[in-house]
Amino acid sequence: MIVHLKNLLKKAQKNNYALGSFNTHNLETTLGILRAAQAEESPLIISISPNSIRYAGLKPIVHIIETAAKNVVPTIPISFHLDHGENFHEASECIRAGFSSIMIDNSELPFDENIFQTKKVVEYAHRYGVWVQGEIGRVPKTKEEIKLLHEKPEEFLTKPEEAVEFFKKTGVDTLAIGIGNIHGKYKMTHPVKINWSRLREIHKVIKIPLVLHGASGLKKEEIKKAISLGIKIINIHTEINIAFSQALRKKINNDKKEVDPRKILLEPIKAIEEIVKEKIRMFGSSNRTKR
Ligand SMILES: [Zn+2]
Repeated sequence: MIVHLKNLLKKAQKNNYALGSFNTHNLETTLGILRAAQAEESPLIISISPNSIRYAGLKPIVHIIETAAKNVVPTIPISFHLDHGENFHEASECIRAGFSSIMIDNSELPFDENIFQTKKVVEYAHRYGVWVQGEIGRVPKTKEEIKLLHEKPEEFLTKPEEAVEFFKKTGVDTLAIGIGNIHGKYKMTHPVKINWSRLREIHKVIKIPLVLHGASGLKKEEIKKAISLGIKIINIHTEINIAFSQALRKKINNDKKEVDPRKILLEPIKAIEEIVKEKIRMFGSSNRTKR
């Protein structure tokens, strides 16, 4: 069943676990994620990026998620969210399409401009009861940026005083931060090193749920520590893509005569289910659908 993100977060904060936010692009990914939610009896967030909206179409992907959540997992609370919304127009379209939470990511803009643009989206979203995730600090994505993160970390890490000012001026409901986390596939070869003292400082001054992007590949102990320091949403995208494409490649190579997509795609769906189940257990959200 589809519920508002605030209901999921209230319980996660009370019981000190994190919600997985898993990116989908299509029916197959959505099924894999939902089957994992069912198997683990775990609430979770399904995230849709602007690229996935461009790929599948806004209405088709929303209808897939809503209908599947209602029919495949009628007793599991699921929320869906816009990941890395790029501008006001995109955010407002998702608000009208029924999202209970949207991200507006202006973290690449100068600080004041980030505040100005984010605030505009928050004012609009809150009129419809929709929650907004903002981002402050930068999460590197390219090889060059990852190199720069090690050389000049201050250009990327969230500054606690800026996080406070950003929160006060924009009124965001959740906040994505940069604490050494890395977006995309390069973190699989350049392991993420979380800056724990920075997270601790941010957690001291920011009481809304913190969001960790670029969390694929982090170890169980690191995840646990992050949760105890205010991280209540953890985004997983890269590992889902890897699980899907590896299983698909394997199936096609091993079974060259199979032409039925329903048979070819069974294993990639299962691979997504397995990785999502593993993450759910790491995040502590198994068996949390009632409590
Ligand atoms: Zn992200």
